[in-house]
Amino acid sequence: MNNKVFSLIKVYEVLRMSKKKKIYLSPPHMSGNEQKFIKEAFTTNWLAPLGPNINSFEESIKLYLSNNKEVAVLSSGTAAIHLALVLIGVSKGDEVLCQSFTFSASANPILYQGAVPVFIDSEKDTWNMCPDLLEVAIKDRISKHKKPKAIIAVHLYGMPYKANEINAIALKYKIPVVEDSAEALGSTYFGEPCGTLSDFGVLSFNGNKIITTSGGGALIVKNKTLKKQAVFLATQARDNAPHFEHSHIGFNYRMSNVLAGIGCGQMEVIKARVSARRNNFDFYKTQLKNYPNIMFLEPPKHFYSNRWMTCILTSSFKMRETLRQALLEENIESRPLWKPMHTQPIFKSYLQFTNGTSELFFNRGLCLPSGSNLLQDDLKRIITTITKALKLC
Ligand SMILES: *Cc1c(COP(=O)(O)O)cnc(C)c1O
Repeated sequence: MNNKVFSLIKVYEVLRMSKKKKIYLSPPHMSGNEQKFIKEAFTTNWLAPLGPNINSFEESIKLYLSNNKEVAVLSSGTAAIHLALVLIGVSKGDEVLCQSFTFSASANPILYQGAVPVFIDSEKDTWNMCPDLLEVAIKDRISKHKKPKAIIAVHLYGMPYKANEINAIALKYKIPVVEDSAEALGSTYFGEPCGTLSDFGVLSFNGNKIITTSGGGALIVKNKTLKKQAVFLATQARDNAPHFEHSHIGFNYRMSNVLAGIGCGQMEVIKARVSARRNNFDFYKTQLKNYPNIMFLEPPKHFYSNRWMTCILTSSFKMRETLRQALLEENIESRPLWKPMHTQPIFKSYLQFTNGTSELFFNRGLCLPSGSNLLQDDLKRIITTITKALKLC
């Protein structure tokens, strides 16, 4: 083929591609009411990290979780994990056990405190922290006179972890649990909302989460005293004095009243957002049921996932990559599952208790577009692309 014709074809391809609407993995989905709350913040000049939207947002989360907990909304989920560790008293040199199969934000705050992460691999039923490995790790660390200071467990992709087992171990050894529920607002475990199953719960309202404030998070605690402490630390730890007096290290972690307004609008539609994501999962599962090489994560009984992400497991790395490339060519975003922390350049030198599970998931798994605003036509386009690519595998 001569070069001119070749480049014309290329230009044509680029034009054709650019016409296809991009389908994102998990984009924000506004209800329309958010602006009402934001406008109110402007009208009343409540633009600070203080104001009526903050209180309303916290109340609506409390009501939704209805589990006698207190909620402090913050600038991010990462900030919530960090504050939980501070409140527990994690400090320099302490060891913290952390689920390896997760996003790095679960583990980074351990290092903010100068503490040392110890990574725990997953089990196959929920893809979350393996209780057996957790106990092996605790026994090992205690035998070396390094009793862990905290456990960070994650309801990954919205699927609850085995909380009864993890909590029983935590209780036995008296180690507090930080429950990273950043992806699991709307999930329940034996009827109890995720985020309220342990000592400290964490939510995220980042742009890709089930509801969003564009950026934000929340810390869920047992009582008002702990909430007061959390808010105190999140607002620069100012002691009670007419001048600025400080006897603790403070943080600037409180959510702003403007962003809390977005949260108020989002909480009005949280139930619809959860069902939309669960419907996506059902659609994918039904459409791909005749493909034995594609597996879905099915929960044990009484584990209810918000299906924040629909994840599939393929039978090989090659197949996963074929699907991912095929989707990419159709302007459809998909993503490999989280790369385990114990294999990350920044974390791989830390102690780890592994069984190969999360590495297998990482090599073969793919997150499919899972937004609550996916249209029927989008879903069909995704399935057509996947089934076409599977024929080539
Ligand atoms: C998003 C996320 C976080 C961090 O939340 P941010 O609000 O983005 O700081 C923590 N853990 C997990 C598992 C997450 O997915």
